[in-house]
Amino acid sequence: MPCDLHAGIGGAGRICPADQWKVNPLAFESPYQHTLGGEVVLSGVGVHSGQPARLRLLPSEPDTGLRFRRVDLPGAPEIPATLDYVLADQLARRTTLGLGRTVSVATVEHLLACCLALGVDNAVFEVNAEEMPFFDGSAQSLAHGIQQVGVVAQNRARQPMTIHEPVVFNRYPVQMAAFPSHTLRITYFLDFDSAAIPKQSGHYEITGESFLRELSPARTFCLWQDVQPLLEQGLIKGGSLDCAIVIDGDRLLNGPLRFPDECVRHKAIDLLGDLCLLGRPIRAHLTAWRAGHLWHFQFLRELQNALVAVENSPRTPCEKQVMSSPDMRTQNKEAFAP
Ligand SMILES: [Zn+2]
Repeated sequence: MPCDLHAGIGGAGRICPADQWKVNPLAFESPYQHTLGGEVVLSGVGVHSGQPARLRLLPSEPDTGLRFRRVDLPGAPEIPATLDYVLADQLARRTTLGLGRTVSVATVEHLLACCLALGVDNAVFEVNAEEMPFFDGSAQSLAHGIQQVGVVAQNRARQPMTIHEPVVFNRYPVQMAAFPSHTLRITYFLDFDSAAIPKQSGHYEITGESFLRELSPARTFCLWQDVQPLLEQGLIKGGSLDCAIVIDGDRLLNGPLRFPDECVRHKAIDLLGDLCLLGRPIRAHLTAWRAGHLWHFQFLRELQNALVAVENSPRTPCEKQVMSSPDMRTQNKEAFAP
């Protein structure tokens, strides 16, 4: 039975039944690149612009990466989903990519988080508006759309990135770090200085399945007291109680929560989406304290520099150990079987 969340109708408390989440468990861990198994069309409204948007997800050739295509603009210009195309002054409450001022697409992070976790390396995202549809404020509708067509292996190896030493980012009161790890892990600490949102922390071992079950249903959130100021900044023009958890004092305006710690789970989605902008899979343990899209971006710039430095240095004993671990040996022997 189709899930109504796929149409972006999801309201508070609704999570897609677990039996509808059939994930290809190999896609995230595979040594091979993957793309979409078919075309997906989704429609919704941009939460900040308030404009309707039609989104078409298309398969793409190996080594072409993830790209947004503004089909409503002359020439249908494409914007690669990498850190180089982040509009650094448009990171308040969303991630925006662009080719200068006139060609941009906002609120890309939830789709990119799905791509990272579900193992989509190459795809084109056609959108006919300046902002992606927001659905219910979670990543569930987008993930479900990808799941409907599945992901397929391509005859090209992935090039995952690793680090051998911690990369630490301190901008008081924000702290972020990446530690060496054979798997991708996220630990997020939410400390909002608000009685409405209690301190929360979450640790997630990222796989396609864990993302679908533990993170993708988690909605974004905002404080009622922030609504008017955000409107005055030209944001959340498409916002409503159907697309975010809204908290007024110690009261939830649109309960129940989908998880007791839904807010921190959503922050992990946002970090995963921004992490996808590295352009290649990474294996590391990332931690974040009081962060947000602007801080994610600044930290990822530093992390990217560290990753480039690792790749330009001779192999270390640590890396040799990673390459010869039982898991990696198994993966390297796995035959290509699209
Ligand atoms: Zn978000």
